[in-house]
Amino acid sequence: MKVKENFEIKNLTTYKIGGIVKKVYFPETQSELTELLREHKSALVLGSCSNILFSSNGYDGDIILTTELKQFEIRGTHVFASCGVKGPLLAQKTAEVGLSGFEFMIGFPGSIGGNIYMNAGAHGQCISDSLTRCCLFDRSNCEVVYKGKDELEFSYRRSILQDERYILLHAEFDLKKAPREEIKSLIERNLEFRKNIQPSLANPNAGSVFKNPDNDSAGRLLDKAGVKTFDLPRAKVWDNHANFIVNKGEATSEDILTLMVMMYNAVKKQYTIELKPETIFLGNKTKKEEELWNILYQKTQK
Ligand SMILES: Cc1cc2nc3c(=O)[nH]c(=O)nc-3n(C[C@H](O)[C@H](O)[C@H](O)COP(=O)(O)OP(=O)(O)OC[C@H]3O[C@@H](n4cnc5c(N)ncnc54)[C@H](O)[C@@H]3O)c2cc1C
Repeated sequence: MKVKENFEIKNLTTYKIGGIVKKVYFPETQSELTELLREHKSALVLGSCSNILFSSNGYDGDIILTTELKQFEIRGTHVFASCGVKGPLLAQKTAEVGLSGFEFMIGFPGSIGGNIYMNAGAHGQCISDSLTRCCLFDRSNCEVVYKGKDELEFSYRRSILQDERYILLHAEFDLKKAPREEIKSLIERNLEFRKNIQPSLANPNAGSVFKNPDNDSAGRLLDKAGVKTFDLPRAKVWDNHANFIVNKGEATSEDILTLMVMMYNAVKKQYTIELKPETIFLGNKTKKEEELWNILYQKTQK
């Protein structure tokens, strides 16, 4: 297993932001991952790093990255996937054998672990729709357990994994058979939709900044509040979608948090709605970042 010390995490994140991490482990098998979880009780577990803002000031603890856990298997309509498998790959592979349910995953880089943690979704589909059960590591007693979909408390961008007790090892799904041409054209439609409004990863970003409030769209509220004009020297709101921030090249975590607070305040002022961040902030915080973080996250996230 690859282990890196004093590792700069920046290039592994889709924001291309993040400082030095004390130790990063890259397990290649489920048993290596469970062994690490037993030994490093407080290590952070990350997948594709596509929903996080990692601190430019680094992190003093250990990180386990699941990117080398790439095993998957398709048997009839059943799909088994390790936590590190990338969503777009699984969307392609299942489409090739005429299985529908993963078309939504084509356009964003999340791993199966991150997708289940976030209950990721798009275009009217989400990961919990086709999930049957998960194999989890229980950090409270270091045991491996199976949980059915009904036990995972799924709702919009929420699952039981966010309580930080369980780590996803692998997941099992049951997809629906459909004509390959239909699946392919849905995938193409989904990609086309994104291409028109969202930044590609050539403009480093971490997807939607804020969650949609009940019965509304964060993008719509942000747009109406005029945030598309927010442009800092190193980071800005994306021209075609008000709920995306892009790193212009050298942005720091403080730049992104500053912009997030500006966006949050604009919507709060105009609509008295307090948006909740979808992006997760991780790592060491400066005093200034602590203040910004408190405004954005204090009521929503540890
Ligand atoms: C261009 C772009 C477009 C996007 N579009 C969408 C979209 O349409 N819909 C959507 O829902 N999201 C979207 N996202 C956001 C992101 O891809 C998803 O939230 C995705 O689910 C995150 O997965 P990840 O592997 O990158 O997780 P990471 O960012 O690595 O981690 C996110 C959280 O999951 C936890 N986690 C990761 N793996 C595990 C595991 N094995 N067990 C337990 N916890 C784990 C981490 O600890 C962390 O708290 C987009 C992102 C980008 C960059």
